This record gives sequence, structure tokens and C-alpha cells, in this order.
Amino acid sequence: MLTFLSRYANWLHLQWPGGEVESLPKVDDDFRTNVDGVYVVGDLAGVPLLKFSVDGGVRAVRDLVDRGRVAEGAKAPDDVVILGAGASGMAAAREARKQGLSFTVLESRRRFATIRDFQKGKPIYTYPNDMTPAGDLQVSATVKEELVDELEAQTEDIPVHHGEAYRIDEGADGLAVVTTDGDRIRGRNVIVAIGRSGNFRSLDVPGEDKEHVHHRLYDPTRCAGDDVVVIGGGDSATEAAIALTEAGARVTLSYRRDELVRPKPENVERVHELVEAPQGDGRLTLQMPTDVEEIRDESVRLSTEAGQTGVKADHVFAMIGREAPLDFFRRSGITLHNDWGDVPDSLQEAISSLAWVKDLRWDRIAAFAAFFFFMVGVYSWKDGGWVGQWAQAAEVFPFGWSPSADGTGLVDVVLTSMQKPGFYYTLAYSAIVVIFGIKRIRRRKTPYIRVQTMTLMVIQVLPLFILPEIILPWFAKNGLLPTAFLDALFPTSEYAVHGRQYWRAYGFILAWPLFIWNVFSTDPLWWWLGICFVQTFVLIPGMIYFWGKGAYCGWICSCGALAETLGDQHREKMPHGDGWNKLNLAGQVIMVVVFALLFLRIGSWIWPGSWAGAAFRAGLYGGGVGLGYSWLVDVMLAGMVGYGVYFWLSGRVWCRFFCPLAALMHIYHRFSRFRILADKKKCISCNVCTSVCHQGIDVMHFAQQGKPMEDPECVRCSACVQSCPTGVLEFGQVDGNGQIVHRDALEASLTRIQEKNGQAA
Ligand SMILES: Cc1cc2nc3c(=O)[nH]c(=O)nc-3n(C[C@H](O)[C@H](O)[C@H](O)COP(=O)(O)OP(=O)(O)OC[C@H]3O[C@@H](n4cnc5c(N)ncnc54)[C@H](O)[C@@H]3O)c2cc1C
Ligand code: SF4
Ligand code: SF4
Repeated sequence: MLTFLSRYANWLHLQWPGGEVESLPKVDDDFRTNVDGVYVVGDLAGVPLLKFSVDGGVRAVRDLVDRGRVAEGAKAPDDVVILGAGASGMAAAREARKQGLSFTVLESRRRFATIRDFQKGKPIYTYPNDMTPAGDLQVSATVKEELVDELEAQTEDIPVHHGEAYRIDEGADGLAVVTTDGDRIRGRNVIVAIGRSGNFRSLDVPGEDKEHVHHRLYDPTRCAGDDVVVIGGGDSATEAAIALTEAGARVTLSYRRDELVRPKPENVERVHELVEAPQGDGRLTLQMPTDVEEIRDESVRLSTEAGQTGVKADHVFAMIGREAPLDFFRRSGITLHNDWGDVPDSLQEAISSLAWVKDLRWDRIAAFAAFFFFMVGVYSWKDGGWVGQWAQAAEVFPFGWSPSADGTGLVDVVLTSMQKPGFYYTLAYSAIVVIFGIKRIRRRKTPYIRVQTMTLMVIQVLPLFILPEIILPWFAKNGLLPTAFLDALFPTSEYAVHGRQYWRAYGFILAWPLFIWNVFSTDPLWWWLGICFVQTFVLIPGMIYFWGKGAYCGWICSCGALAETLGDQHREKMPHGDGWNKLNLAGQVIMVVVFALLFLRIGSWIWPGSWAGAAFRAGLYGGGVGLGYSWLVDVMLAGMVGYGVYFWLSGRVWCRFFCPLAALMHIYHRFSRFRILADKKKCISCNVCTSVCHQGIDVMHFAQQGKPMEDPECVRCSACVQSCPTGVLEFGQVDGNGQIVHRDALEASLTRIQEKNGQAA
């Protein structure tokens, strides 16, 4: 049984890697951080490519000018202090000069240090080919030396001051950059362009700090005739291994996976050519999959699948990537994505690590608190609880409005609907979806987003609000709907303000088992049972077969509507990783429980008065303790947890982990033709697609291998497609053999850069 369950979990959710997301400073579309006047550009703003770095530096300067954050005439302090004289910092400086601003560039090593550190003759890929960065600084060179000359020639008149920025202070007299020497450089604005060059990832093995261990390759010819171990599986590692082999070194490439999936295809191809080439002076051997155990003076110990082995090494190049200088940002109070911080060692550190508190938006907290208490009020009112009783006694809610005696006019119907809390709840929900939906359409200008968001708004407003609150009661009161139809779908109730349960109309959109109440009724509602059966077991699987689970979750469902609109700017907060992927299975457990309740409900209809009815009620309402499915799942998980963590863990927590309908759809989705297709050649492994996925999918894992993305968690939000800087991804369909049979016409193929260049449709 356990083996079966683990195979099932693997098939459904766990076979793909979790894909961690790196912490990076949180910047908006104009590169602003949470500290007013501080911008972060270049590699630290997300896309590690030269053209994006140059583009970002220029745009940040233009933004601070547009916002009037500069002084008239030459007044101290400088308009802007630029930290880092790399591609983005120098592009910013050149733009600042063009705009007539006063500025200081502070550099800890030397101009274009990162690029100068590239190995001799390194090929340069100036992706995306059709992108022209903003500003005057341009890059077109194809090898490192030409690139340095080209950048120097365009910036030689820009002075650079030596110094290492330690933190940025925000005081009463404005911003000040504090250096490691204790100097303070004041500025009206600060552009942080310090890249990631100084922070190499650690292998965390003994011997890593030995002198012959390097993180950069300067000149491969210095290793000619020597034994070299290169550690890593990305472009830097493969390019280093190629250059060293071609320079005449005996190279071993150690990588922890059994395949090179991340580097550019031309690098992988060259690696394999060199491995198979006749053994000359330079040789390349692959040791994959291997983990480094220890670095010794003349060798490296690797653990392989067969046991341990030693490899001779005069030089070791550990090229496993670089990290953002997070401490600099924490010291400066700049908010990071996904930063839960470390356990502080001292009170002072504890206080400074609470920088995130500054970012707490009290308006959001107040809005959430109001919403939370309103929810409590709604539930309590519905059940005649203390909030409802208090509200009635104190006449807090304006429910005393009275419609006219016959009650058939449109205004009468609206006034009557307004006598119950559900009206306000749905009105508030719909208003949020519409307001934030319009913002999303303005922010992400792609045809796909426009049509998707408008569909979500219309569905939320019409069938989920106006239909049950106004249209149905008004039609019914004016005799426009047959009584048999009303009796079948909207039974009478003494508690309903219009005398009938029009709220059941939610069932037209919200399918069972997300919306359970049309199926879990005391007596069977045959029409609803038919509708629910067709929705859940015919229409939804059919839709999913062609367009994936997202056809429902991203285009129809009201939980999805809120997540894609109010949650649009919080999608990067969804936690990623293998551990979180395991929590995806929670929905499967809830789905099993809801099916068990269904069988009990059917049993209680067939055998009235039997134990099935008592068991059903205990399961749904929790018997005496009240901790049944309706409270634990509907109220706690969907309501309190789902909405409670909206601004901290993204808007899709309920959808990803707990929704029983989504859990069922995950199974359907495994048989779907829908895929996110990837053009592997264009992928630069920047991880942007993974970081924006609010369903926690490691999209980059598929893109790097050029494999169609098949993870059933996908809700078709298109964030990955739209955010990919090099246009790698698109929606499509594959046949049973995995061959592409269709590319979606309304796909979000516009990349971020096309938008910024004004090429958006
Ligand atoms: C091995 C390698 C190969 C690459 N190949 C390509 C390629 O082929 N094509 C491509 O488009 N991109 C490539 N890139 C990416 C490209 O180099 C970066 O996108 C670009 O250099 C980023 O520019 P930046 O200004 O953000 O940072 P950087 O160029 O890293 O500049 C940051 C500067 O800040 C300085 N600095 C750091 N800390 C401080 C501090 N505390 N105070 C003051 N100064 C500081 C550094 O010394 C450095 O000069 C490659 C990167 C690497 C590492
Ligand atoms: S597919 Fe993902 S990792 Fe590859 S370039 Fe696009 S955003 Fe970056
Ligand atoms: S479309 Fe992309 S970002 Fe959105 S859920 Fe699917 S994989 Fe994630």
C-alpha cells in the first residue's frame, strides 16, 4: 500500500524538482526599492544579462528625473550616488551625465571588474539579439576583450571613485552611503549596481579555502600541461572546462547531476566533442554524477554512485554560481524577496533584521483585518452566533432598510438583498477583483492577460454576484421564471431574505467539491446533482484535456480571480522547494475526505435514519466540537489560511495546497495535452520563470532541457511566459508521443523586453 501511495505521489507531484528561488532585492518595474530614492539595477534586479543591466541603469536614472528627485543647479549633495562601475552602473552614470545630473560612482575594485574577470577570449552572447537597451551605452562585441574595449571607449570620460559600499543610511538629512572605511557619501538618490561578482557560492567541503582553489578563470593558458578539476554544471563551468582543455590542460569536470542540462547547447556540444576527441595535450573527462567530498593539496575526492574516487588536481575551479550580496541589503533595510532572515545572534542584529517590518503595509493589514472580521461576522451571523446577535442588538449594520410592500421593483430587490451580510461580502469580493483586475491589465500589457482578466472579472460580477443577488430574485418576483424551475434549483427557505436559496446559483460556476452545498443538501436536489456531475466529471475533464487545469483555475474560478488580480503582485512570495511540493499532497487527502462524505451523503439518502447520516453530519459539521469539514476546510483553510497569508505567501496557497477540486483536477491534468513549450536554445537559466510561478513550479527545470512543462499545478496564469526575458516559453499542446501539435493563438508570447521597447500589441 505504502509503495503504491509513494508511486502515486511521485506520478502526480513529486517527480519534478522543487527549484529553490534565490533571494533578491524587491524592486518594482522602475527598479525602485522600498527605501525611497534607492534603486537596484543590473544582475541584482533579476535578469543576469548585459543588455538588461545596461537598460536597467538608464531607466532608473530616467525614473528619478521623472519623479523630480533632483536639484536645480549644482547643489550638494549629489543627485545620485552610483554603487558599482559595472555595465549597469556605468550605463546609469552615462545617462546621469546626459541628463545634467551631479553624480558619484563608487567602485570597490576596478571599472567593469566582472567583465574583466571573464577568461581570456571568452565568447560573449548579447541576448536578446533584437533588444536595444535604453540610453547611449550599447554592447555588440562577441569576445571579452572587444567587450571591455567597447565599454571603456563609451565611458572613458566618467570618473570613478575607489571605495566599497557597506550600507545605505536613510536619515533626516537624506540618503548616505557608508563605506567600509567609514566614509559617508551623501546623495539624493542611490543606484545600487554592485552585481553578484563578489559573492561566490560555497561548496561547503573541507579544503575549499586552499590556495589552489579558484572561483574565476583568468587565463587558461597558465594551466597548460596541468591537472585541473572544474566543479559545476552551468555555462561558467563548461566554458572554463572548454577553455582549459583547448589551452592544453588535463581537465576533469565534476557535476552532481548525470546530464548537462543547464549550459547553452553550443557549450554542451563542444564539451562532448572534447570528451570524444583523440587524446592530445588537452583532455576533458566527465565525472557525473559526482559530489565533491574534500579538496586536498594535489587531488579532489569525489563520491560517485560506485563509491569514492580521487582525481589529481593542481588547480581546482569551483564554478557553482554566485549569490546576491544579501547582507548589504539587509543592513540597508532593503526588502528582499522570500527572505525569512537568519536566527539573529544579538539583540542589535535582531532589531536590524526586523527591517521587513518597515515594509509591512499597514493599509494592507488594516484591509485584511477588516476582511477577516467581516468573514467572522458573516459566519457568525449566518449561524446566529454572538457577532450576529450583537450586531442586531446594537443595530450596527444598516439592515433595517425596508423595501416597499409588494417588493417587485428592482430597487426593492436590491434593498432586500442588502439585508444579509453575504451581499456585502460578495460585493466587496467583486469590487476587489475588478479594481485589481484593471490594474493588472494596465501593468501587464499582453492580449492574453487582457482577455483572461476581463473574463475573470465578468464571471465574478455577473454569475457570482448580480445573478444570485439581483437577477434571479427580481425575475422570480415578477413571475418571469417558472415555479418548477425555481423549486428545482432554488428551494424555499424561511431564513432566505427573498424566500428562496438563490445563493445556490454559485454552483453554476463553482464546481463540486470546491462548492459542496448543492450536493451535500439534506434531501437530494436532483437538478443540482445533474449539473454538478456534468461539471465535475464531464465538462472540466474535457476542458483540461485541451487547455490544462488552468482553463478552470485561471479563467473561471473565483479563488483564481482574486489570486490573479489582488494577488498579481505577490506571486513571487509563493515558497518553492521539494518540501513545499510534498505539501501539494494535502489536497489529495482533503479530496479523499470529501469523496468519503459524498458516499455517506448518498448512503443517508438511500437509507434514511441509518448510521451514514449521523456519520455524514459528524464529518461535515464536527458533531459537538464543531471541527468538521465545513469549519476546517471551508472556513479555516479556504478562508482564514488562504486569505490570511495572501500578502506573505502569495494568493495561491489555498489553490495550490488545499483545494479539493484542484486536487481532482491534478489527476485529470496528468492526461492533458496542454504543455508550456520551451525553446531550450534561448534559455539563459536566469530562473525568472520559476521565481514568478505562484504555483511553486520549477519552470526553469523544464526550459533548460527544452522539455514541455507538464506539472499539473500550472494554472495558466502566463506569468512565466510573459516574464521570460528571452521569449523561451509559450503555451501549446502535445500528442500522446509528446510531439507538439498546437501552439496557442492567444498565448502570452510578448516578452518583458518587447513590452518595454513599446512593441506590445
Ligand atoms: C562568467 C560569466 C559569463 C557571462 N557571460 C555573459 C554573456 O555572454 N552575455 C551576457 O549578456 N551576460 C553575461 N554575463 C552576465 C553579465 O556579466 C552581467 O549581467 C553584467 O556584468 C551585470 O552587470 P552589473 O552592472 O549588474 O554587475 P557587475 O558587472 O558585476 O558590476 C558590479 C560592479 O560593482 C562592484 N562592486 C561590488 N560590490 C561593491 C560594493 N560593495 N561597493 C562598490 N562597488 C562594488 C564590482 O566590483 C563590479 O565592478 C556573464 C556573467 C558571468 C559571471
Ligand atoms: S525559460 Fe526561465 S530560466 Fe530560461 S531564460 Fe526564460 S525565464 Fe530564464
Ligand atoms: S503559467 Fe507559468 S507561472 Fe503560471 S502557473 Fe503555469 S507554470 Fe506557473
